Amino acid sequence: MTGCPPGPTAKVPSVRAEPDCIFCGVVAGEISSTTMAQSERAIAFMDINPVTPGHALVVPRSHATDLFDITADDLAACVHLAQQIAERAKERLGADGINLLNCNGEAAWQTVLHFHIHVIPRFKDQPGKDCIGLPWDSVPSNLDEIERIGNLLS
Ligand code: AMP
Ligand code: ZN
Repeated sequence: MTGCPPGPTAKVPSVRAEPDCIFCGVVAGEISSTTMAQSERAIAFMDINPVTPGHALVVPRSHATDLFDITADDLAACVHLAQQIAERAKERLGADGINLLNCNGEAAWQTVLHFHIHVIPRFKDQPGKDCIGLPWDSVPSNLDEIERIGNLLS
């Protein structure tokens, strides 16, 4: 961040912290982390169980459980920071591609209940670094059923 400190009329985002939340602990500096980048609303740090070299997490400073709880401004800040980390992974780690992954709810594999975006560098034809496979098979479905469900979401 650059520039002057906020003046009396500038809106500084308030930070909500949840007791016993691991990522609130990371944001507060109470739990150690390897932090690579920060903005007013978000921070990026390394995942302690990396699935590929460079696997990072981007979280809002203010506690939000998931996609349904996070504010639009905090979500935008997280996406912006994730894009910056993804660019660095390509330039500095030689990643061939990047997956962004965000899990919401136990059914969607979320284990830490503080919104986060995984930034996962991908390495083509390097099984020693990257052996992630797609978690689904691509199978064509009934077109009427696809349209019916699409209409429910329209
Ligand atoms: P998810 O399963 O999508 O909720 O992802 C949670 C992620 O947080 C996992 O990839 C964990 O390895 C990671 N994680 C848990 N505790 C920490 C921590 N203290 N520092 C960094 N990453 C963590
Ligand atoms: Zn939290």
